[in-house]
Amino acid sequence: MKILISADMEGATGVTWPADVLPGTPQWERCRTLFTSDVNAAVLGFLDGGADEVLINEAHWSMRNLLLEELDERAQLLTGRHKSLSMVEGVQHGDVDAIAFVGYHTGAGTEGVLAHTYLANSITGVWLGGVRASEGLLNAHVVAEYGVPVVLVTGDDLTCRDADGYAPAARKVAVKDHVSRYAAVCRTPARTAADIRAAAREATALAVRYEPVVGGPFTVELEFDAEHLCGAATVVPGVVRDGERRVAYTSETMYEGIRTFKAVTTIVSAAVEEQYG
Ligand SMILES: [Zn+2]
Repeated sequence: MKILISADMEGATGVTWPADVLPGTPQWERCRTLFTSDVNAAVLGFLDGGADEVLINEAHWSMRNLLLEELDERAQLLTGRHKSLSMVEGVQHGDVDAIAFVGYHTGAGTEGVLAHTYLANSITGVWLGGVRASEGLLNAHVVAEYGVPVVLVTGDDLTCRDADGYAPAARKVAVKDHVSRYAAVCRTPARTAADIRAAAREATALAVRYEPVVGGPFTVELEFDAEHLCGAATVVPGVVRDGERRVAYTSETMYEGIRTFKAVTTIVSAAVEEQYG
């Protein structure tokens, strides 16, 4: 049995503000240890539950955050950028039985610690088929096309509530309780590691592949905080203006849908001016 862990950082133990997750800052250096502890706890829990193989896919920022030397020796780490499925890279090869979203967070424009969708700023909302979409929801639709269940989600309490919508059967662990976008009541790494390990062990029983879901076409809408970003985004073929600060596109599959999303966010982030947005 092979488990894939998609590891994002904003939802990790103790993480509550930008410097905690910005590569190169002293706070990020400290929080890497907390993040690695969460991920390793999930690895240990899946191995306890009977998994033979655990692959971790780094999913935050430069995708170089986890401390390889602190991970259990039975795990493998996919580190670095430029992967066709981004946050859920590795799910497409037909050998993954389940996926875990560790360190996830809520979507842009909603309540939650460090809430955002792909870009830390500039995007004020994302909708999939008219429903507000977090990264968890978008990626859950991607992995469904490969018949891979989401069996574990960790993050703040609101992330767990969000996951109740897109992965109701998955085990959830709230490592902190939301107070504001930049504040949370945090539990210690010793406590959250124990909780994550226990939940991952239970989640292993849910690692049963199903028939790939053919759910398209998918319509994705994005809303920005500045009008000119629509001009940047609509350079991507198929992306059209859908309002003063909104764009939309439709894809036959979520494989294409997430790739278009990545193209839009990459172009939009390059079009943001430091002072004017
Ligand atoms: Zn994220």
